[in-house]
Amino acid sequence: MNDEKLGLDTRVTHSGRSPRQHFGMVNTPVYRASTILFPNLAALDAKEGAKLRYGRRGTPTTHALEDAICALEGGDRALLAPSGVSALSTVLMSYAEPGAHFLVSDSSYGPTRKFCEFTLRKFGIDTTYYDPAIGAGIAELIRPETRLIWMESPGSQTFEVQDIAAIAGAARARGVTTAIDNTWSGGYFSQPIAHGVDISVQAGTKYISGHSDLMLGTIACSAAQYDRLRETYLRFGICISSDDAYLALRGLRTLGVRMRQHHTSGIEVANWLLQQPEVLRVMHPALPQDPGHDLWKTYFTGASGLFGFVMKSVDRDALARMFDGFSLFGMGSSWGGFESLIVPSNPAVYRTATEWNPGGQTVRIHVGLEDPADLMDELRRGFERLTA
Ligand SMILES: *Cc1c(COP(=O)(O)O)cnc(C)c1O
Repeated sequence: MNDEKLGLDTRVTHSGRSPRQHFGMVNTPVYRASTILFPNLAALDAKEGAKLRYGRRGTPTTHALEDAICALEGGDRALLAPSGVSALSTVLMSYAEPGAHFLVSDSSYGPTRKFCEFTLRKFGIDTTYYDPAIGAGIAELIRPETRLIWMESPGSQTFEVQDIAAIAGAARARGVTTAIDNTWSGGYFSQPIAHGVDISVQAGTKYISGHSDLMLGTIACSAAQYDRLRETYLRFGICISSDDAYLALRGLRTLGVRMRQHHTSGIEVANWLLQQPEVLRVMHPALPQDPGHDLWKTYFTGASGLFGFVMKSVDRDALARMFDGFSLFGMGSSWGGFESLIVPSNPAVYRTATEWNPGGQTVRIHVGLEDPADLMDELRRGFERLTA
């Protein structure tokens, strides 16, 4: 069901399902397997070409999720990993070779940088971090040995939007592969592969799962990149359980309605935050005053519920009074579930190509599916506790 003429919601509803192959059941069932038996010696001899040959190589349930991810992201092929970090490190590792050079956005997710610094550097792969606003200027940083350009848009914690087609175009002209962390959009509000990016990675843990109960990574790619990615993937023995694939498929069916609500509620809360005297700045690319707004309109059809704001500096005790009193907003890692979250963050500590110096406390907020009025009420009381 990857028919591009169909709308995205239709594809997300029907991809990765073939009820007639499963006694009419609407959902592809959970197939648990390690051993898969072959009926005769001829079939065993031909196992190299078989779609089903061993549990680690996939089951009908994991293949169904691969198909659905291709339909969502507009990729030719997909690979599934046990976490977002596993997916992104698989991609980075696939383009690693002695003396290789990578270009990675300075606004990338922390563990992406750590993989470059702690794992790839050991093997002689050099990474340059670039200003996420670089656009076509990336061409000046491409060296003969550059093998991969990594983007993330909007950036983790700081939410800068990147000119992904300009970067992908400059890369293509020099024969360099491009990859993007597309987690923020859920794959629903942005399809980077259609804009010329070769590989789109997501922490399926976030919006695809949507229920804060699953770890998953997805890699969608063009056919040209698939064999190389799959080679790394197979050598590391990466696979996911059919139970987890089933949960991801279940989450995926409601991705559209959830994302539209995150979009509307997130913008409502972001606009409210803009009015608060304690708030210095809101980082939300769907707001017209955001520096990334024009690029966001070019590459996204909506906004997820994750954004940032900067509040006036306060001491730790005041911050604790504010945060410890929240009951609707939880504090914890991850996001993309149905519930709201809030955490203070400090992007300044890992940046190297650009400075993050907003003059106050940076906060990351995930607006869930609660009534926005209740969330704003809770935030208002939080700000009152700051000055109490
Ligand atoms: C959470 C996250 C990841 C990592 O996903 P895990 O499933 O937690 O490993 C990768 N990229 C971004 C942008 C994320 O927010």
